[in-house]
Amino acid sequence: MNNKNSDLGFSTRAIHHGYDPQQHQGALIPPIYLTSTFTFATAEYGAGCFAGQEPGYFYTRIGNPTLALLESRMAALENGQAAVAFGSGMGAIAATLWTLLRPGDEIIVNRTLYGCTFALLHHGLAEFGIKVRHVDMSDLGNLRAAISPATRMIYCESPANPNMQLVDIAAMADIARQHANIVLAVDNTYCTPYLQRPLEMGADLVLHSATKYLSGHGDITAGIVVTRQDLAERIRLQGLKDLTGAVLSPQDAFLLMRGIKTLALRMDRHCSNALAIAQYLQTHPLVQSVAYPGLPSFPQHALAARQMKLPGGMIAFELKGGLDTGRRFMNALQLFSRAVSLGDAESLAQHPASMTHSTYTPQELAEHGIAEGLVRLSVGLEDIADLLADVAQALATSAQCATTPASLEGLSRVGTTMP
Ligand SMILES: *Cc1c(COP(=O)(O)O)cnc(C)c1O
Repeated sequence: MNNKNSDLGFSTRAIHHGYDPQQHQGALIPPIYLTSTFTFATAEYGAGCFAGQEPGYFYTRIGNPTLALLESRMAALENGQAAVAFGSGMGAIAATLWTLLRPGDEIIVNRTLYGCTFALLHHGLAEFGIKVRHVDMSDLGNLRAAISPATRMIYCESPANPNMQLVDIAAMADIARQHANIVLAVDNTYCTPYLQRPLEMGADLVLHSATKYLSGHGDITAGIVVTRQDLAERIRLQGLKDLTGAVLSPQDAFLLMRGIKTLALRMDRHCSNALAIAQYLQTHPLVQSVAYPGLPSFPQHALAARQMKLPGGMIAFELKGGLDTGRRFMNALQLFSRAVSLGDAESLAQHPASMTHSTYTPQELAEHGIAEGLVRLSVGLEDIADLLADVAQALATSAQCATTPASLEGLSRVGTTMP
């Protein structure tokens, strides 16, 4: 298969793009180039590689054939020009923001963001002289009002981790396009390119924690940025090479490509399982509210239908009785694992306010739209009857238990957070 296969279907590209077995001894599966450095036939050739005049590889932190295959495949799936792979999603985000922003610049971010991204904005940008403005982008008037001559980037997740709020990516891209110096960056971790392709809607950069659905098997950490050729080159040569060094191991790139081959199959199943659980939760008397884009009761249901192929595998919900009941529910789960991260074959449940989003103070949680009692489910690939039975028994158990008073303040808080 050559690289000119953009008219092939999504899964065909996910399985074949950029790889020709005949160039690799006939090996059906791409080899892993487990090497940190590359040899030069002559000193002149080596100098040419470093000067960018020769096409060869020279050091894996800057480029490696296994990583290059992954990058070309992800660019093909997101319909972008180029991609850069990283050792984690945070590596990708930090490298991108540090490459494209300078002291005095402003970045406008959505109100709700993944906890470590929120922490990076504070510790990695605001403390270094970059102005960070948080606005609720579900109302685009807020975004328009926040733009100033110093604005260089608009950044969001859709759906946002953890409260599932969407932003209208095409409308945001229209706003960004009216300003020559502003790029729109979308963290597409929750959707993957199978469900949503922000570049096709006018975004300039797509970022991923490839640790999640793209890998799909919970055995690696990885990140990816997909964007225009010129931006990708800058992010590789500054953000990856010099600012973070957050390179992905070729071994993990191989595992990630293996995961991506089954992405469409897995996402279909994640979505159908999640829809069934969201529908069940919505009818349960103990449930206060369910945020799932596939439910007609979801406030942005029409927007979800417009910009997402399917509503995804993530659910956020609140139980009557708030945090206490939520904690009893989590402790009663038997098939769902109590764990952070998402997008694995195994179903996972976690409590954002004390886990993934513990970088937010209680006041910040309120300001940024993350309810204390919110429970986040990453619905896995198990049989739906077993998942529904587990949710049903956990709800029944948490309804029966006596209330133990506890508040968020009582939970141990650490300065760091987890995915
Ligand atoms: C997990 C996550 C990240 C961070 O990715 P890592 O691979 O854990 O570094 C960033 N954004 C979102 C939306 C995530 O869920």
